[in-house]
Amino acid sequence: MTDTQNNFTRSSMGLGEWAYDRGEFVSATAPRLTLSTQGLHYGTGAFEGIRAHHCDDGLLLFRARDHYARMLRACRILHITGIPDNIDDLIDITGELLRRNGHQEDAYVRPLVHKLVLTPHTPPGVSLTGVSDALSITTFGFPASRTPPGIRCLISSWRRPPRDAFPAQAKLTGGYVNCALASDEARAAGFDDAILLDQAGNVAEASTANVFAVHNGRITTPPATGDLLPGITRDTVMTLCREAGMEVLERRLSPADLFTADEIFLSSTGKGVVSVVSLSGRDIGNGTVGPLATRAAALYDAAKRSADGAHPEWLTPITPG
Ligand code: PMP
Repeated sequence: MTDTQNNFTRSSMGLGEWAYDRGEFVSATAPRLTLSTQGLHYGTGAFEGIRAHHCDDGLLLFRARDHYARMLRACRILHITGIPDNIDDLIDITGELLRRNGHQEDAYVRPLVHKLVLTPHTPPGVSLTGVSDALSITTFGFPASRTPPGIRCLISSWRRPPRDAFPAQAKLTGGYVNCALASDEARAAGFDDAILLDQAGNVAEASTANVFAVHNGRITTPPATGDLLPGITRDTVMTLCREAGMEVLERRLSPADLFTADEIFLSSTGKGVVSVVSLSGRDIGNGTVGPLATRAAALYDAAKRSADGAHPEWLTPITPG
């Protein structure tokens, strides 16, 4: 059996053996970047996280088209042009990489685009033009874990940067300094995650997830035009909850709106849908996982694994080679 013919039975928890890097499939652990990599120095990169779930016939990539579309929009912000820019090609590369890596369980795909090195005759300095570009993709085993019974969050002392200073709608690598500061602060204080406010004091998002609140059976979340990354899981949850007859509104939320909510939950590719049972030391609702969060999580979990569900367009089957 050749490497490309690996089926999904080989156990490879953690980082997959192969990576895609600048047009080639290479060992994922062989160092290939120069120390002068611009994305490393200046945070001029963007990434995505895409989940692939096991099914009877291989893997189902969840909303890969939407993730790659968001990545390509980030490329436009960063003037990244020297990478494959066709979503079908990007999905083909991803499928080939997953086949090579043969993850036995669910997998997580991490595409990364970034500025590489100055092109000849470009003067040194911080720039987006006159710099070459790179795309790499790595995959990781991501075994399905039991959703935690509810997490405890802190309202962070770090605020989200305003989108006229930093384009929040793209997953730009440099922006994750803000996320890391907030999550580190929360963990050091004994919490599980942080919820960040915007410059005006309204709720923006959690360190790497979007925020939903429930009041009297109505679900609300801050508008996508705020200082937040409008997550693909956020869109999934909004769509599925509305289709199930729930009322979902985008509106500004203050910290007081969160403290008085019956339920709070977060959404992200990495976490799925997870309840926030306490905020800055105060119980939310009765301090346990609420019914709407449970419902939203169940709808999301069903949609990501069932190709014959209401949204087959969200799923890309990757069959073993
Ligand atoms: N906000 C931030 C800052 C994030 O890093 C993420 C995770 N990508 C999200 C929101 C949720 O986005 P998605 O649902 O697309 O994973």
